Amino acid sequence: PYSYTPPGRNHLAVPGPVNIHEQVMRAMDRPSQNHRDPWFPPFFQQILEDTKYIFKTTEGTPFIFPGTGTGGWEVALTNTLSPGDKVVTFRYGQFSHLWIDMMQRLGLDVQVVEVEWGGGADEAKLEQILKADTDKKIKAVAVVHNETTTGVTSDIGQVRQVMDSVSHPALLLVDGVSSIGALDFRFDEWKVDAAVTGSQKALSLPTGLGLVAVSQKALEARKTAQLKRVYYDLEDQLATNPSGNVPYTPSIPLLYGLRETLGLIKAEGMDNVIARHHRLAEGTRKAVEGWGLKLLCKEPRWNSDSLTVIKTPEGVDSGKIVKEAYSRYNLSLGVGLSEVAGKVFRIGHLGNNDEVMVGSYLFGAEMAMISAGVPIEPGSGVSKAIEYWAATSNVIPTRG
Ligand code: PLP
Repeated sequence: PYSYTPPGRNHLAVPGPVNIHEQVMRAMDRPSQNHRDPWFPPFFQQILEDTKYIFKTTEGTPFIFPGTGTGGWEVALTNTLSPGDKVVTFRYGQFSHLWIDMMQRLGLDVQVVEVEWGGGADEAKLEQILKADTDKKIKAVAVVHNETTTGVTSDIGQVRQVMDSVSHPALLLVDGVSSIGALDFRFDEWKVDAAVTGSQKALSLPTGLGLVAVSQKALEARKTAQLKRVYYDLEDQLATNPSGNVPYTPSIPLLYGLRETLGLIKAEGMDNVIARHHRLAEGTRKAVEGWGLKLLCKEPRWNSDSLTVIKTPEGVDSGKIVKEAYSRYNLSLGVGLSEVAGKVFRIGHLGNNDEVMVGSYLFGAEMAMISAGVPIEPGSGVSKAIEYWAATSNVIPTRG
Protein backbone atom coordinates (compact mmCIF):
# COMPACT_ATOMS: atom_id res chain seq x y z
CA PRO A 1 0.00 0.00 0.00
CA TYR A 2 1.48 3.28 -1.13
CA SER A 3 0.68 6.51 0.61
CA TYR A 4 0.13 9.44 -1.68
CA THR A 5 3.26 11.30 -2.74
CA PRO A 6 2.92 14.33 -4.97
CA PRO A 7 4.41 13.90 -8.43
CA GLY A 8 7.39 15.99 -9.46
CA ARG A 9 9.46 17.22 -6.59
CA ASN A 10 9.46 19.40 -3.55
CA HIS A 11 10.65 22.83 -4.66
CA LEU A 12 12.93 23.91 -1.85
CA ALA A 13 13.14 27.68 -1.70
CA VAL A 14 14.20 28.20 1.90
CA PRO A 15 17.51 29.78 2.95
CA GLY A 16 18.78 26.49 4.33
CA PRO A 17 18.67 23.62 4.09
CA VAL A 18 19.52 24.09 0.45
CA ASN A 19 19.04 21.86 -2.63
CA ILE A 20 21.80 19.27 -2.88
CA HIS A 21 23.54 18.86 -6.24
CA GLU A 22 23.05 15.38 -7.73
CA GLN A 23 26.78 14.90 -7.99
CA VAL A 24 27.11 15.66 -4.27
CA MET A 25 24.32 13.22 -3.41
CA ARG A 26 26.10 10.49 -5.32
CA ALA A 27 29.39 11.36 -3.65
CA MET A 28 27.79 10.84 -0.23
CA ASP A 29 26.21 7.51 -1.13
CA ARG A 30 28.90 5.29 0.32
CA PRO A 31 29.13 2.32 2.64
CA SER A 32 30.57 3.05 6.07
CA GLN A 33 34.33 3.17 6.34
CA ASN A 34 36.77 3.15 9.18
CA HIS A 35 38.28 6.56 9.79
CA ARG A 36 41.17 4.90 11.64
CA ASP A 37 42.33 3.21 8.43
CA PRO A 38 45.20 4.88 6.57
CA TRP A 39 43.05 6.32 3.76
CA PHE A 40 41.50 8.88 6.11
CA PRO A 41 44.31 11.31 7.09
CA PRO A 42 45.22 12.49 3.56
CA PHE A 43 41.51 12.60 2.64
CA PHE A 44 40.63 14.78 5.65
CA GLN A 45 43.73 16.97 5.40
CA GLN A 46 42.90 17.85 1.81
CA ILE A 47 39.31 18.74 2.71
CA LEU A 48 40.46 20.97 5.58
CA GLU A 49 42.87 22.68 3.21
CA ASP A 50 40.19 23.12 0.54
CA THR A 51 37.73 24.81 2.93
CA LYS A 52 40.11 27.80 3.09
CA TYR A 53 38.93 28.75 -0.39
CA ILE A 54 35.39 29.65 0.67
CA PHE A 55 36.62 31.70 3.63
CA LYS A 56 39.18 33.39 1.36
CA THR A 57 41.98 32.67 3.75
CA THR A 58 45.52 31.42 3.56
CA GLU A 59 46.39 32.60 7.06
CA GLY A 60 43.45 31.18 9.04
CA THR A 61 43.15 27.68 10.44
CA PRO A 62 39.98 25.84 9.45
CA PHE A 63 38.12 23.38 11.67
CA ILE A 64 35.28 21.03 10.79
CA PHE A 65 33.01 19.96 13.64
CA PRO A 66 30.13 17.53 13.65
CA GLY A 67 27.40 19.99 14.51
CA THR A 68 25.63 22.97 13.04
CA GLY A 69 26.05 26.73 12.80
CA THR A 70 24.95 27.07 16.42
CA GLY A 71 27.82 24.79 17.45
CA GLY A 72 30.12 27.00 15.40
CA TRP A 73 28.95 30.03 17.40
CA GLU A 74 29.92 28.19 20.57
CA VAL A 75 33.34 27.29 19.14
CA ALA A 76 34.01 30.95 18.31
CA LEU A 77 32.98 32.24 21.75
CA THR A 78 34.22 29.60 24.16
CA ASN A 79 37.67 29.28 22.61
CA THR A 80 38.44 32.99 22.69
CA LEU A 81 36.71 34.54 25.71
CA SER A 82 36.42 34.31 29.51
CA PRO A 83 33.40 34.72 31.81
CA GLY A 84 32.54 38.41 32.21
CA ASP A 85 34.40 39.48 29.07
CA LYS A 86 32.76 42.36 27.29
CA VAL A 87 31.37 41.74 23.79
CA VAL A 88 29.73 44.32 21.54
CA THR A 89 27.17 43.09 19.05
CA PHE A 90 24.06 44.04 17.07
CA ARG A 91 20.56 42.60 17.28
CA TYR A 92 18.67 42.88 13.98
CA GLY A 93 16.99 39.52 13.57
CA GLN A 94 16.34 36.14 15.11
CA PHE A 95 19.83 34.74 14.49
CA SER A 96 21.70 37.69 15.94
CA HIS A 97 19.21 37.42 18.83
CA LEU A 98 20.00 33.74 19.39
CA TRP A 99 23.74 34.34 19.27
CA ILE A 100 23.32 37.09 21.88
CA ASP A 101 21.28 34.68 23.99
CA MET A 102 24.17 32.18 23.81
CA MET A 103 26.66 34.89 24.80
CA GLN A 104 24.54 35.81 27.79
CA ARG A 105 24.03 32.21 28.85
CA LEU A 106 27.80 31.66 28.67
CA GLY A 107 28.25 34.51 31.15
CA LEU A 108 29.66 37.17 28.83
CA ASP A 109 28.98 40.85 29.42
CA VAL A 110 27.13 41.69 26.21
CA GLN A 111 26.56 45.22 25.00
CA VAL A 112 23.77 44.95 22.45
CA VAL A 113 23.19 47.61 19.84
CA GLU A 114 19.50 47.31 18.96
CA VAL A 115 18.79 47.85 15.28
CA GLU A 116 15.32 47.91 13.79
CA TRP A 117 14.78 44.65 11.84
CA GLY A 118 15.63 45.30 8.21
CA GLY A 119 18.74 47.23 9.18
CA GLY A 120 22.35 46.07 9.41
CA ALA A 121 25.45 46.66 11.51
CA ASP A 122 25.56 50.34 12.38
CA GLU A 123 29.18 51.32 11.83
CA ALA A 124 28.82 54.84 13.26
CA LYS A 125 27.41 53.49 16.51
CA LEU A 126 30.18 50.91 16.69
CA GLU A 127 32.79 53.61 16.20
CA GLN A 128 31.26 55.63 19.03
CA ILE A 129 31.32 52.61 21.38
CA LEU A 130 34.86 51.57 20.53
CA LYS A 131 36.15 55.14 20.80
CA ALA A 132 34.63 55.46 24.27
CA ASP A 133 36.33 52.24 25.36
CA THR A 134 39.61 53.95 26.17
CA ASP A 135 40.86 51.23 28.51
CA LYS A 136 40.05 48.53 25.93
CA LYS A 137 37.64 46.52 28.04
CA ILE A 138 35.82 45.23 24.95
CA LYS A 139 37.28 41.86 24.06
CA ALA A 140 35.22 41.05 20.97
CA VAL A 141 32.97 42.55 18.34
CA ALA A 142 30.51 39.91 17.10
CA VAL A 143 28.55 40.41 13.89
CA VAL A 144 26.08 38.31 11.93
CA HIS A 145 27.17 38.91 8.34
CA ASN A 146 23.95 37.83 6.64
CA GLU A 147 20.87 37.97 8.87
CA THR A 148 18.70 35.17 7.52
CA THR A 149 15.57 36.49 9.24
CA THR A 150 15.57 39.78 7.40
CA GLY A 151 17.64 39.36 4.22
CA VAL A 152 20.21 41.90 5.32
CA THR A 153 23.94 41.62 4.64
CA SER A 154 26.08 43.78 6.88
CA ASP A 155 29.34 45.26 5.73
CA ILE A 156 32.10 43.38 7.55
CA GLY A 157 34.81 45.29 5.67
CA GLN A 158 33.40 48.51 7.14
CA VAL A 159 33.23 47.00 10.62
CA ARG A 160 36.91 46.12 10.34
CA GLN A 161 37.70 49.60 9.08
CA VAL A 162 35.98 51.14 12.11
CA MET A 163 37.89 48.85 14.48
CA ASP A 164 41.19 49.78 12.81
CA SER A 165 40.38 53.49 12.67
CA VAL A 166 40.20 53.59 16.46
CA SER A 167 43.03 51.04 16.86
CA HIS A 168 40.82 48.74 18.86
CA PRO A 169 42.36 45.32 19.62
CA ALA A 170 39.04 43.43 20.09
CA LEU A 171 38.58 40.15 18.28
CA LEU A 172 36.22 40.19 15.30
CA LEU A 173 33.86 37.20 15.42
CA VAL A 174 31.60 36.72 12.42
CA ASP A 175 28.56 34.54 11.80
CA GLY A 176 28.87 33.72 8.11
CA VAL A 177 26.31 30.92 8.28
CA SER A 178 24.23 32.17 5.35
CA SER A 179 27.01 34.06 3.59
CA ILE A 180 30.21 32.02 3.40
CA GLY A 181 30.36 30.12 0.11
CA ALA A 182 27.68 32.37 -1.43
CA LEU A 183 28.67 35.97 -0.83
CA ASP A 184 31.94 37.87 -0.91
CA PHE A 185 33.71 36.89 2.30
CA ARG A 186 37.32 37.92 2.94
CA PHE A 187 38.66 36.32 6.10
CA ASP A 188 42.24 37.54 5.68
CA GLU A 189 41.55 40.97 4.24
CA TRP A 190 38.94 41.81 6.88
CA LYS A 191 41.14 40.30 9.60
CA VAL A 192 38.32 38.17 10.90
CA ASP A 193 39.28 36.20 14.01
CA ALA A 194 36.60 33.53 13.87
CA ALA A 195 34.15 32.87 11.04
CA VAL A 196 31.38 30.32 11.25
CA THR A 197 29.25 28.48 8.73
CA GLY A 198 27.13 25.34 8.53
CA SER A 199 26.97 22.63 5.87
CA GLN A 200 23.27 23.07 4.97
CA LYS A 201 23.62 26.65 3.76
CA ALA A 202 25.74 27.78 0.80
CA LEU A 203 27.67 24.52 0.81
CA SER A 204 24.39 22.83 -0.12
CA LEU A 205 24.98 19.69 1.93
CA PRO A 206 22.79 18.01 4.51
CA THR A 207 22.88 19.63 7.95
CA GLY A 208 25.55 18.25 10.25
CA LEU A 209 28.83 20.11 9.91
CA GLY A 210 29.87 23.32 11.58
CA LEU A 211 32.84 24.93 9.85
CA VAL A 212 34.93 27.51 11.63
CA ALA A 213 38.02 29.38 10.47
CA VAL A 214 40.17 30.89 13.19
CA SER A 215 42.94 33.48 13.02
CA GLN A 216 46.36 33.25 14.66
CA LYS A 217 45.22 35.95 17.07
CA ALA A 218 42.22 33.85 18.10
CA LEU A 219 44.42 30.77 18.51
CA GLU A 220 46.57 32.83 20.87
CA ALA A 221 43.46 34.04 22.73
CA ARG A 222 42.43 30.44 23.45
CA LYS A 223 45.49 30.02 25.68
CA THR A 224 43.97 32.39 28.23
CA ALA A 225 40.26 32.02 27.41
CA GLN A 226 38.52 30.63 30.48
CA LEU A 227 35.02 29.84 29.20
CA LYS A 228 34.23 26.16 29.75
CA ARG A 229 34.47 24.03 26.64
CA VAL A 230 34.75 20.33 26.05
CA TYR A 231 33.27 18.99 22.81
CA TYR A 232 34.03 22.25 21.02
CA ASP A 233 37.52 22.74 22.45
CA LEU A 234 39.93 23.59 19.62
CA GLU A 235 42.68 21.98 21.67
CA ASP A 236 41.40 18.49 20.82
CA GLN A 237 41.24 19.34 17.11
CA LEU A 238 44.68 20.91 17.19
CA ALA A 239 46.06 17.74 18.75
CA THR A 240 44.72 15.59 15.92
CA ASN A 241 44.03 17.63 12.77
CA PRO A 242 47.66 18.33 11.80
CA SER A 243 48.16 14.58 11.24
CA GLY A 244 44.81 14.34 9.40
CA ASN A 245 43.00 12.79 12.34
CA VAL A 246 39.94 13.79 14.33
CA PRO A 247 39.21 13.60 18.05
CA TYR A 248 35.87 11.83 17.61
CA THR A 249 33.96 9.94 14.93
CA PRO A 250 33.44 12.05 11.82
CA SER A 251 30.45 11.88 9.49
CA ILE A 252 32.21 10.32 6.54
CA PRO A 253 29.34 10.74 4.03
CA LEU A 254 29.22 14.44 4.88
CA LEU A 255 32.95 14.74 4.35
CA TYR A 256 32.66 13.08 0.92
CA GLY A 257 29.86 15.52 0.17
CA LEU A 258 31.94 18.43 1.38
CA ARG A 259 34.84 17.37 -0.82
CA GLU A 260 32.52 17.24 -3.83
CA THR A 261 30.77 20.55 -3.14
CA LEU A 262 34.08 22.33 -2.58
CA GLY A 263 35.24 20.85 -5.88
CA LEU A 264 32.16 22.24 -7.63
CA ILE A 265 32.67 25.69 -6.08
CA LYS A 266 36.34 25.71 -7.00
CA ALA A 267 35.62 24.65 -10.58
CA GLU A 268 33.01 27.41 -10.93
CA GLY A 269 35.35 29.89 -9.27
CA MET A 270 34.39 31.84 -6.15
CA ASP A 271 34.04 35.11 -8.06
CA ASN A 272 31.60 33.42 -10.44
CA VAL A 273 29.71 31.91 -7.52
CA ILE A 274 29.38 35.38 -5.98
CA ALA A 275 28.27 36.85 -9.33
CA ARG A 276 25.71 34.05 -9.80
CA HIS A 277 24.24 34.76 -6.38
CA HIS A 278 24.01 38.43 -7.26
CA ARG A 279 22.19 37.74 -10.54
CA LEU A 280 19.74 35.33 -8.92
CA ALA A 281 19.06 37.82 -6.15
CA GLU A 282 18.68 40.75 -8.54
CA GLY A 283 16.15 38.78 -10.61
CA THR A 284 14.23 38.01 -7.44
CA ARG A 285 14.29 41.66 -6.37
CA LYS A 286 13.01 42.66 -9.83
CA ALA A 287 10.13 40.22 -9.35
CA VAL A 288 9.31 41.75 -5.97
CA GLU A 289 9.23 45.17 -7.62
CA GLY A 290 6.97 43.77 -10.35
CA TRP A 291 4.58 42.47 -7.70
CA GLY A 292 4.48 45.94 -6.21
CA LEU A 293 5.79 44.62 -2.90
CA LYS A 294 8.64 45.79 -0.68
CA LEU A 295 11.73 44.19 0.78
CA LEU A 296 12.17 44.09 4.54
CA CYS A 297 15.78 45.21 3.98
CA LYS A 298 15.86 48.98 4.49
CA GLU A 299 18.81 50.01 2.35
CA PRO A 300 20.03 48.69 -1.00
CA ARG A 301 23.61 48.51 0.33
CA TRP A 302 22.42 45.77 2.71
CA ASN A 303 20.42 43.76 0.13
CA SER A 304 21.20 40.11 0.63
CA ASP A 305 22.18 37.98 -2.35
CA SER A 306 21.53 34.80 -0.30
CA LEU A 307 17.84 35.29 0.25
CA THR A 308 15.07 37.80 -0.31
CA VAL A 309 12.66 38.73 2.45
CA ILE A 310 9.41 40.18 1.18
CA LYS A 311 6.88 42.18 3.15
CA THR A 312 3.29 41.22 2.52
CA PRO A 313 0.67 43.94 2.19
CA GLU A 314 -1.11 45.14 5.32
CA GLY A 315 -3.81 42.66 6.31
CA VAL A 316 -2.27 39.68 4.48
CA ASP A 317 -0.84 36.96 6.72
CA SER A 318 2.42 35.88 5.08
CA GLY A 319 2.01 32.50 6.76
CA LYS A 320 -0.98 31.91 4.51
CA ILE A 321 1.19 32.40 1.40
CA VAL A 322 3.74 29.91 2.72
CA LYS A 323 0.92 27.46 3.52
CA GLU A 324 -0.69 27.81 0.10
CA ALA A 325 2.69 27.32 -1.60
CA TYR A 326 3.34 24.08 0.24
CA SER A 327 -0.15 22.64 0.20
CA ARG A 328 -1.01 23.46 -3.42
CA TYR A 329 2.29 23.63 -5.27
CA ASN A 330 4.78 21.56 -3.23
CA LEU A 331 6.89 24.69 -2.87
CA SER A 332 8.65 25.35 0.43
CA LEU A 333 9.05 29.06 1.13
CA GLY A 334 10.57 30.50 4.30
CA VAL A 335 8.15 31.78 6.94
CA GLY A 336 8.54 35.05 8.80
CA LEU A 337 10.31 34.40 12.11
CA SER A 338 9.64 35.88 15.53
CA GLU A 339 9.05 39.64 15.32
CA VAL A 340 8.16 39.49 11.62
CA ALA A 341 6.02 36.32 11.78
CA GLY A 342 2.99 36.79 9.54
CA LYS A 343 4.51 39.92 8.00
CA VAL A 344 7.13 38.57 5.60
CA PHE A 345 7.98 35.47 3.62
CA ARG A 346 11.44 34.45 2.49
CA ILE A 347 12.83 33.06 -0.75
CA GLY A 348 16.21 31.40 -0.39
CA HIS A 349 18.45 31.46 -3.45
CA LEU A 350 21.82 30.55 -2.01
CA GLY A 351 23.97 27.60 -2.86
CA ASN A 352 23.06 25.10 -5.55
CA ASN A 353 20.57 27.20 -7.56
CA ASP A 354 20.21 28.53 -11.10
CA GLU A 355 17.83 30.81 -12.98
CA VAL A 356 15.29 28.14 -13.84
CA MET A 357 15.19 26.92 -10.24
CA VAL A 358 14.81 30.39 -8.74
CA GLY A 359 12.40 31.25 -11.55
CA SER A 360 10.23 28.34 -10.44
CA TYR A 361 10.23 29.67 -6.87
CA LEU A 362 9.05 33.05 -8.16
CA PHE A 363 6.40 31.42 -10.33
CA GLY A 364 5.22 29.33 -7.36
CA ALA A 365 5.32 32.29 -4.97
CA GLU A 366 3.20 34.24 -7.42
CA MET A 367 0.62 31.45 -7.63
CA ALA A 368 0.63 31.05 -3.84
CA MET A 369 0.10 34.79 -3.36
CA ILE A 370 -2.84 34.69 -5.74
CA SER A 371 -4.27 31.69 -3.81
CA ALA A 372 -3.78 33.62 -0.57
CA GLY A 373 -5.71 36.59 -1.94
CA VAL A 374 -2.83 39.01 -2.52
CA PRO A 375 -3.98 41.35 -5.28
CA ILE A 376 -1.21 40.88 -7.83
CA GLU A 377 -1.32 40.66 -11.59
CA PRO A 378 -0.38 37.14 -12.79
CA GLY A 379 3.08 37.23 -14.35
CA SER A 380 3.88 40.67 -12.96
CA GLY A 381 6.90 39.49 -10.98
CA VAL A 382 8.05 36.55 -13.05
CA SER A 383 8.13 38.68 -16.22
CA LYS A 384 10.51 41.16 -14.57
CA ALA A 385 12.86 38.38 -13.49
CA ILE A 386 12.78 36.91 -17.00
CA GLU A 387 13.63 40.29 -18.53
CA TYR A 388 16.57 40.77 -16.19
CA TRP A 389 17.95 37.25 -16.48
CA ALA A 390 17.50 37.10 -20.26
CA ALA A 391 19.41 40.37 -20.59
CA THR A 392 22.27 39.25 -18.35
CA SER A 393 22.54 35.50 -18.95
CA ASN A 394 25.83 33.72 -19.63
CA VAL A 395 26.63 30.65 -21.66
CA ILE A 396 27.56 27.75 -19.39
CA PRO A 397 31.38 27.59 -19.76
CA THR A 398 31.44 23.97 -20.99
CA ARG A 399 28.59 24.54 -23.45
CA GLY A 400 29.86 27.49 -25.45
N1 PLP B 1 23.20 32.00 11.95
C1 PLP B 1 22.46 32.24 10.87
C2 PLP B 1 22.67 33.52 10.13
C3 PLP B 1 21.51 31.32 10.43
O1 PLP B 1 20.78 31.56 9.35
C4 PLP B 1 21.34 30.11 11.17
C5 PLP B 1 20.35 29.12 10.76
O2 PLP B 1 19.51 29.33 9.93
C6 PLP B 1 22.13 29.91 12.30
C7 PLP B 1 23.06 30.86 12.64
C8 PLP B 1 21.99 28.69 13.11
O3 PLP B 1 22.55 27.63 12.42
P1 PLP B 1 22.10 26.12 12.67
O4 PLP B 1 20.63 26.06 12.49
O5 PLP B 1 22.88 25.40 11.60
O6 PLP B 1 22.55 25.77 14.03
